[in-house]
Amino acid sequence: MKTSRRTFLISSLGVASTLALSRQAFADAPKVAENDPTAQALGYKADASKVDKAKYAKFVAGQDCGNCSFYQGKASDPWAVCPMFAGKQVAGKGWCSAYNKKA
Ligand code: SF4
Repeated sequence: MKTSRRTFLISSLGVASTLALSRQAFADAPKVAENDPTAQALGYKADASKVDKAKYAKFVAGQDCGNCSFYQGKASDPWAVCPMFAGKQVAGKGWCSAYNKKA
């Protein structure tokens, strides 16, 4: 009983530190520049209010990375990784044409 409790505690600590490390790795990821070729292809803007609404008619005010299902951070995080940009961070207030409302 004692051994399994200790094993559980040790493995829990391992998971916690792995999570801490991966969050740190996310925090260190580079930020996507708007002139990045992928960003241009997807119409990404770090400030959703600057989206080209003529080109991206599907954009609706209130949509931003923070409430997109692809955003890997909390809605309140200013920056987080987005899988559309291979390990780079996007702005929580940003937007791109791959936007998909978080359920
Ligand atoms: Fe932002 Fe979603 Fe586009 Fe990623 S896919 S850049 S989270 S709007």
